[in-house]
Amino acid sequence: MPELPEVETVRRGLTPAMVGARFVKVEAHRPDLRRPLPNDFAGRLEGTTVTALKRRAKYLLAELSSGDVLMMHLGMSGSFRVSGEDKAQTPGAFHYPRSEARAHDHVVFHMSSGARIVFNDPRRFGLMLLVPADELAEHPLMKEVGPEPLDRAFDAAALARACAGKATSLKAALSDQKVVAGLGNIYVCEALHRARLSPKRGAATIATKAGAPNERAVALVAAIKAVLKDAIAAGGSSLRNYARTDGELGDFQHRFRVYDREGGACVTPGCTGVVKRIVQNGRSTFFCPKCQR
Ligand SMILES: [Zn+2]
Repeated sequence: MPELPEVETVRRGLTPAMVGARFVKVEAHRPDLRRPLPNDFAGRLEGTTVTALKRRAKYLLAELSSGDVLMMHLGMSGSFRVSGEDKAQTPGAFHYPRSEARAHDHVVFHMSSGARIVFNDPRRFGLMLLVPADELAEHPLMKEVGPEPLDRAFDAAALARACAGKATSLKAALSDQKVVAGLGNIYVCEALHRARLSPKRGAATIATKAGAPNERAVALVAAIKAVLKDAIAAGGSSLRNYARTDGELGDFQHRFRVYDREGGACVTPGCTGVVKRIVQNGRSTFFCPKCQR
């Protein structure tokens, strides 16, 4: 499933094609994705202009001149293909290969910028909803989403408060969208390795009994921000190189320290450990048992 860096890369890739542009024509090739498309989906979009394209957690939020927000989620397998006068590109597809099979082209936006934006989603866990802008904050999918990890407000104190008293593992807590938005399996594993904290450690151990942050919370927040910034930078560099838009995008996957590296040597300087894979809550966790405590 795409995580925050992929979605942010998609946002940046779509911005030149969408922001300031009008929906000239909208094609919906089926009535639903994960949920039904909004009633009169094409009619409510056509003629409106995208005034801003934002991201919240893993949602893309296109603010429209009509007062609605077009909420979009990539689900498991969704991607956007942008074609204009140049060749097509698929922004943000840098870990998992993305489908280009025409049978899975479900929604097409013809923009006044000249761009044709195709939403392709073989497994159809993606989502497109229209929500009045003033109701967005209270929308059930938005209301409980935790802090944005790259916001200044997400600091050691905030993370410690969210983890204090939790009986779950640190891995489970960081994967919980109410604790912090946008992280998934890959970036949780990578952040824990950078912070040298075991994924099996109890989440509450990053806080004092009173809920204040300890040095583990400080290290973890710094690691989360660093790994996301690095991944977004790698995604951004992939956008500038159309030759790498085939699903093997960007270099970031070659820079994973633990994710998908079972049996590999730990890259922590001076550590002689070997990356191990365990299963937590049904998902693979990769970590170094030697330097992650
Ligand atoms: Zn190690």
